[in-house]
Amino acid sequence: MKSNIYLPVTIILLTFLLMSVCGKTQNNPGNQTVWALALHGGAGTISPDMPDSLKQQYYDGLQQALRVGEIILKDGGSALDAVEMVVRNLEDNPLFNAGRGSVFTIDGKHELDAAIMDGSTLAAGALTGLTTVKNPVSLARIVMEESPHIFFSGPGAEEFANQTGVERVENSYFHTETRYRQWQRTRPDEASLLPDGWLEGDKYGTVGAVALDVDGNLAAATSTGGMTNKQFGRVGDVPIIGSGTFANHFVAISATGWGEQIMRNVSANTIANYMEFRNSSLEEAINFVLTQRLNPGDAGFVAVDRDGNISMQMNTLGMYRGSINSLGEQVVRIWE
Ligand code: ASP
Repeated sequence: MKSNIYLPVTIILLTFLLMSVCGKTQNNPGNQTVWALALHGGAGTISPDMPDSLKQQYYDGLQQALRVGEIILKDGGSALDAVEMVVRNLEDNPLFNAGRGSVFTIDGKHELDAAIMDGSTLAAGALTGLTTVKNPVSLARIVMEESPHIFFSGPGAEEFANQTGVERVENSYFHTETRYRQWQRTRPDEASLLPDGWLEGDKYGTVGAVALDVDGNLAAATSTGGMTNKQFGRVGDVPIIGSGTFANHFVAISATGWGEQIMRNVSANTIANYMEFRNSSLEEAINFVLTQRLNPGDAGFVAVDRDGNISMQMNTLGMYRGSINSLGEQVVRIWE
């Protein structure tokens, strides 16, 4: 009698065990990427004739930022912490057009934009027109976690910052000689409205990071000084959720390039939807936006999907970029 009960129970237990093992294998197929990180430091017409010493500075800067994220993710830290800290590191590096090295506006000042998004909850925080916040990405995180809203602009964004403990600086802190010379070279009447204005090489920047953590959560963050010579109050793609920054359960994306083009094609969200609705790979989805929606020379993207696949593609001559994952695969590149 007893053995009659034990047999079906044993079969049921074995079936559950088998199902759970199979389920795990499907969610984490073959190559077992547990965590992954990709970042960019801007896309555009980056001259390959750049002096070797400067090239080395860029490679070092990208590598340092990767290391910041690697330490967090390797230790089981969250994708959100990783993207915030990586972007902070790039904001503090004057080589990149974000934070310290931000470009000049038409008025000779600096107005900064940033956004962060948690793919597991779709929570997001964004800011535009910041003038005194040293690390905009960290304020974006506070907006995401402590405010009922997602997006603050200009004086309201500064007012929000007043209510937090984020580090403040004079606007002149963002001044760097390189960006100043770039600004002086631009013709005021062009006002950064034409792609040729920045494709000539004087304008590239923006930093961003995307990550998958060991718990399977995805996150994206982007930060920028915008475009050289931008007009009063101009908002770029970076803080527009779904344009320059987006993360959900499938994928995390950060964009760089001509903001107006990225915005009118709602580029990051289009990549995510293309993947989800067409069941396509991340590589195909980004390729679709770069070739079928955007024009050559417009933009670049870094992205990671829930399986840890990384894609870093652009239709510009170059993009400062790098990636690393738990398999020990590391890439740092500027051109193709
Ligand atoms: N996308 C940025 C903006 O338009 C600029 C850049 O990525 O270089 O504000």
